[in-house]
Amino acid sequence: MDFSLPAEVEDFRAEVRTFLAEHVTAEVIERAHATGTFHDWGLHRKIAAKGWLAAGWPEEYGGQGRSPLEMNALSEEMYLSGAPVDGVGVAGLVAHTLLLAGTDWQKRTIVPRILSGDAMCCLGYSEPDAGSDVAACATRAVRDGDEWVVDGQKMFTTLAHEAHYVFLLTRTNLDVPKHKGLTMFVVPMDTAGIEVTPVHTVGGERTNITFYTDVRVEDRYRVGEVDGGWAVMMTALVFERNSAWYGECVRLLDHAVAWAGEGRDDRGRRIIDDPSVRERLARASIGNEVSNLLGWKAAWMASEGTLPGVEGTMAKLFTTEHYQRAADDLIDLCGPEGLRRHGEDGAAADGWIEAAYRHCQVTTIYGGTSEICRGIIAERGLGLPRAR
Ligand SMILES: Cc1cc2nc3c(=O)[nH]c(=O)nc-3n(C[C@H](O)[C@H](O)[C@H](O)COP(=O)(O)OP(=O)(O)OC[C@H]3O[C@@H](n4cnc5c(N)ncnc54)[C@H](O)[C@@H]3O)c2cc1C
Repeated sequence: MDFSLPAEVEDFRAEVRTFLAEHVTAEVIERAHATGTFHDWGLHRKIAAKGWLAAGWPEEYGGQGRSPLEMNALSEEMYLSGAPVDGVGVAGLVAHTLLLAGTDWQKRTIVPRILSGDAMCCLGYSEPDAGSDVAACATRAVRDGDEWVVDGQKMFTTLAHEAHYVFLLTRTNLDVPKHKGLTMFVVPMDTAGIEVTPVHTVGGERTNITFYTDVRVEDRYRVGEVDGGWAVMMTALVFERNSAWYGECVRLLDHAVAWAGEGRDDRGRRIIDDPSVRERLARASIGNEVSNLLGWKAAWMASEGTLPGVEGTMAKLFTTEHYQRAADDLIDLCGPEGLRRHGEDGAAADGWIEAAYRHCQVTTIYGGTSEICRGIIAERGLGLPRAR
């Protein structure tokens, strides 16, 4: 078995690493931490200017024709650098879905705005009573001539306060099974009737509730067929599940290693020389390695022309659950000072382990909860019967 990457992937990785070392400054990281908005316009536009929002697309559509292995290296380096790149992920996801399922007009007008880094998107799927069961969506879109009138509420519309478009799942038909009565739109956020209310999570992330009241949307903003929204959703979801959090796990461990290397116990001995400390660090490191390999396996399968639906889900599930276990273990290692927040006097590892401990809790929720991931692996991967 050869685990080494082709030279062109390593070259691209080196280019990305150099770029990020220059542009992901301490100020960028601090700002994202302070606001809870993991998107930075300056950095986003620089990434867009490099052509990396569509790096994996064919050149004829404005992409760089990069392979899934190169794309994995790009994503991995971004997360390893600590860059706030939620916006990069969502913009790429919406643009890519429009490329596959959108109209010519959407491809000519909306996609270029997203790819140039001028327009940001957000995802309007989840509702108070439709999260994992997203097909239970109750936000209504009713046709009125050449327009649609949208009414409803979405939970957790992350980046809505920065976005120019919301990729909005609506119900257009009440007389068919729930999956068959959905329609997708890409709605400009400055349309009258859209209201954004902030939600600050315990994980330090800012998300939003969005309200839609008599929102009039022209039919040209519809993506896919009327009542064909489920197929569009499935296309978009393929781009969402991956092992992106591997980079956060590595950063967590780096902070813990640095803290243990610098710190001394009551008798003046280096903390890292304690075998029980080294055991915890080693455990986190082993989990990181497994997570890394699962991510690369999914990328390798994609590079071989297979859709790694189950393997991507395995990578997401393992990585996020390992992240929680490692954060739990490492914050415990730091003792009471581990509970102090970033910026507080005496905070272990300057509070970055504490921040990771809070943030990792949400990673097993969005992008498919752990239970949903296990269901996918059981049914599609292992062929077990469907749970009722
Ligand atoms: C910080 C944050 C940001 C988010 N950003 C966005 C966003 O930008 N856009 C967006 O649309 N959504 C977003 N979400 C929503 C996210 O996708 C949902 O929270 C997620 O899908 C779970 O839905 P829920 O919260 O309604 O929980 P529920 O679906 O109600 O689940 C509750 C519990 O029941 C379990 N459960 C549910 N169904 C099953 C089943 N079939 N089998 C076994 N167990 C099950 C779940 O695993 C979970 O433990 C975000 C969420 C968070 C926390």
